[in-house]
Amino acid sequence: MENLDEDCVCRICGFVDSPFRMRGLPLNTICGCCGSEAGIEDTMLEGVRETRGYWVCRSSEWFRPSDKPEDWDLLKQLENIPPEWR
Ligand SMILES: [Zn+2]
Repeated sequence: MENLDEDCVCRICGFVDSPFRMRGLPLNTICGCCGSEAGIEDTMLEGVRETRGYWVCRSSEWFRPSDKPEDWDLLKQLENIPPEWR
């Protein structure tokens, strides 16, 4: 995906959530995919990697399964993660 607004992307799992996770400041929204809360688990790179590791180990379960696209592809979604948060 190009021109992805980083403020809409989950730094943990790459899910493009709406509404915005951040507007300058984190809005404390819960990611529908990995269930992480913007501004809690995603403010430090180490924490982001750790949380992502746990989530993938738990077979990358969806926090809100109804948000899961039918053709969901974990690896494709991970590509959305801004490079500085990988
Ligand atoms: Zn997420």
